Amino acid sequence: MSVKVFLTEDEIPRQWYNLAADLPSPLNPPLGPDGKPVTPEMLAPVFPMNLIEQMVSTQRWIDIPEGVLEILYLWRPSPLHRAVFLEKALDTPAKIYYKNESISPPGSHKPNTAVAQAWFNKQFGIKKLTTETGAGQWGSALAFACALLGLECKVFMVRISFDQKPYRKLMMQTWGANCVASPSTETQAGRDILAKDPDTPGSLGIAISEAIEQAVTDKSGTTRYSIGSALNHVLLHQTIIGLEAKKQLEKIGEKRVDVVIGCAGGGSNFAGLSFPFVNDKIHGAEIDIIPVEPFSCPTMTRASFVYDHGDAAKMTPLLAMHSLGHDFIPPPIHAGGLRYHGMAPLVSQGIIEGLLTPRAIHQLESYSSAVLFAKTEGIIAAPETSHAIAAVIQEAKKAKEECKEKVILFNMSGHGLMDLSGYDRYFQGELEDYALPEEEIHAALENIKDLPKPQLVKSGKW
Ligand SMILES: *Cc1c(COP(=O)(O)O)cnc(C)c1O
Repeated sequence: MSVKVFLTEDEIPRQWYNLAADLPSPLNPPLGPDGKPVTPEMLAPVFPMNLIEQMVSTQRWIDIPEGVLEILYLWRPSPLHRAVFLEKALDTPAKIYYKNESISPPGSHKPNTAVAQAWFNKQFGIKKLTTETGAGQWGSALAFACALLGLECKVFMVRISFDQKPYRKLMMQTWGANCVASPSTETQAGRDILAKDPDTPGSLGIAISEAIEQAVTDKSGTTRYSIGSALNHVLLHQTIIGLEAKKQLEKIGEKRVDVVIGCAGGGSNFAGLSFPFVNDKIHGAEIDIIPVEPFSCPTMTRASFVYDHGDAAKMTPLLAMHSLGHDFIPPPIHAGGLRYHGMAPLVSQGIIEGLLTPRAIHQLESYSSAVLFAKTEGIIAAPETSHAIAAVIQEAKKAKEECKEKVILFNMSGHGLMDLSGYDRYFQGELEDYALPEEEIHAALENIKDLPKPQLVKSGKW
């Protein structure tokens, strides 16, 4: 029996999979300030045209350039592990497999898209990328990619994380990026906020506004903005995870998968693993595909499907997605990467179709699950990933009750070695479960009630 399965570099997938080609119902288009669909030209100051083409593409397979693969080979193909010791501890008949994305140099799945985005920007003649980061996973992934491709990188890091999490900032610095606390005095958006509230802890929404402003106001025209999740091209770049997993399962003779699980903040690592399997489901396979979120930021399980902005300053187009409202400030749980008010439009439409069945997990259950995983499989998971692990354990227990030898696959999206203070608070008994009161959900939605409404279209097949 194999405990892990490798692919050679020759066996790496050479095309990304685009779910937009196969969704049975069309996506609602992103809208501009005038309420009309945005044109590629409108996005051109923010993103390079080659990435805008991917963002709006409905082509099923998109070639991965050789130059991108050359960098991905530093850690890809990533291994597929069988969690034999976790299975034993749970005494389950289920077989549990996971893709190990924690082995990338920055420690998560995020460089899969950071490398691709940096490469396409460079091809387009761009010299500098700006971005935002919360806890620092995305900022460090982009800093790493820019270092390898020789691009300048500027990261606006949410003030509270900048002060509390020095190690991710030092990783960015080591890779040569310039990381400043947001709000900063470098942008109008930052100065406006600081004038009103000099001691603000900052937010992702503010940091996004600063990063976009700095990109679009660079008069040389060689700066663009880079985004870590949610948009179609980001999800596209992550599908290499699921495409590798399929080859690996085939290699060890696993003929079917019953359950596919990933944690979802903006939706990219979940989509990356699951979309190739969503394609199978569209073509008749029976698979439970479960994106997992925290109870405290219940975008998929409790928010409505609306048109909303991706950032607090309303600089992004309106996206059709499940959203808690662009003003929503989630409670400060440790899974920073899951504290986002919206969800990727492709994942949202998959939920509307009934192809995906989202689940919410409480903070304490996610930590107890991560500790069990660390004690059995050895890897200390990121607080985000621990939500997926908790759902895996629930499914493995269910398989035991039903006496079924199910095959469960999940995405080990990252390690938690830079996030040990959350484990510390868990061990000290300082963490608590937090479910969002219904009033707060209503209040946050109040501010978007006048925005256009997306069409709720579904084929009715699932
Ligand atoms: C950022 C992050 C996430 C959440 O982002 P998605 O785009 O939803 O994948 C999950 N896990 C880890 C380890 C992360 O760094």
